[in-house]
Amino acid sequence: MKALIYHGPGKKTWSDAPRPQLIQPGDAIVQVDTTTICGTDLHILKGDVPAVQAGRILGHEGVGTVVETGSAVHGLAVGDRVLISCIKSCGHCANCRSGLYSHCLGEEGQSGIGWVFGHLIDGTQAEYVRVPYADNSLYKLPDGVSDAEAVMLSDILPTGFEIGVLAGGVSPGDVVAVIGTGPVGLAAIATAGLCGAGTIVAIDRDANRLEQARGFGATDTVDSSDPGWKDKVLALTDGAGVDVAIEAVGLPETFSMAVSLARPGGHIANVGVHGASVTLPLQELWIQNISITMGLVNTNTTPMLLKLVVGHKIPAAKFATHTFTFDQVMEAYDTFARAAETKALKVIITRNPAHS
Ligand code: NAD
Ligand code: ZN
Repeated sequence: MKALIYHGPGKKTWSDAPRPQLIQPGDAIVQVDTTTICGTDLHILKGDVPAVQAGRILGHEGVGTVVETGSAVHGLAVGDRVLISCIKSCGHCANCRSGLYSHCLGEEGQSGIGWVFGHLIDGTQAEYVRVPYADNSLYKLPDGVSDAEAVMLSDILPTGFEIGVLAGGVSPGDVVAVIGTGPVGLAAIATAGLCGAGTIVAIDRDANRLEQARGFGATDTVDSSDPGWKDKVLALTDGAGVDVAIEAVGLPETFSMAVSLARPGGHIANVGVHGASVTLPLQELWIQNISITMGLVNTNTTPMLLKLVVGHKIPAAKFATHTFTFDQVMEAYDTFARAAETKALKVIITRNPAHS
């Protein structure tokens, strides 16, 4: 089969790889119908995620068709159309039983980390993928949802909702600021209304993405390259700050922006993956009763989010800005990496463009 193989920092090829085989009885082999690229894949290609070894097939998002199941798989059958979650979960360990799938202790990947695809085991940017703990890590898809909509449930929608909106404690009437309107920030914007956010302020310095943010539910947009950006955000509150500041970039500068916006008693929900330490002004924050959260997505809200995508309550299709076939995957990477010029949000890579 063909797959997108990582060969060390800066190097990738779309080339031949052995077709995956069942290893554990709980495994399924899925033929990948549709996949996409995440900002995290670009981090890996820069060499920022050293756990990813040369030879690894990348990708942790996908929709596909079950073609083989192990003897311990009971809830799935050959031919089922499924969503591949970016997090595998054994369903039995102490962490899975408390909903902390991100730290599944199941031995696959052997790290106590639920994110294994395209990280510790071969991923979804391939014609076929082996999915461990298939009964828990795959979700059967109903007919009413397209591949391009469903693939947004592999990672970005649960991440924005769980690590941004839920961890930030968004409550009815809240003013919520989302810093960074890439796919993950937009997913937080698209789901903040589920918890009753009253005002949703999108903050970025990319004019196109700010414009897109309105289509996902932002009530206001602020360009953070404007030196007066903070006053503009505060003007949308009672002057004291926002109830919840969601950081969806992953830079020290944007974390500081989130800190500077939170009102007394407010929340800072960090979603961004950081590669360097940040400054945390505890000497100012302690007396403001601020809470700060962070985390790896659990994907335990996926079944609920799937219902909302099926019911068109979340505009999942809007994330898909470009469509490629599998043999155009290098072009898809290039388009995604130059998002500011190409206006890409999520690039769809599919076996059958007519059906995506
Ligand atoms: P992205 O790179 O597409 O989007 C980041 C956005 O931030 C861009 O629109 C960019 O213009 C904006 N930005 C950059 N610098 C800025 C600044 N100084 N001020 C304002 N805006 C600025 O990334 P994405 O795919 O949306 O992912 C966002 C983050 O979430 C990444 O760090 C990613 O690794 C992380 N992530 C975390 C999890 C998790 O489980 N916690 C899961 C998936 C992704
Ligand atoms: Zn587990």
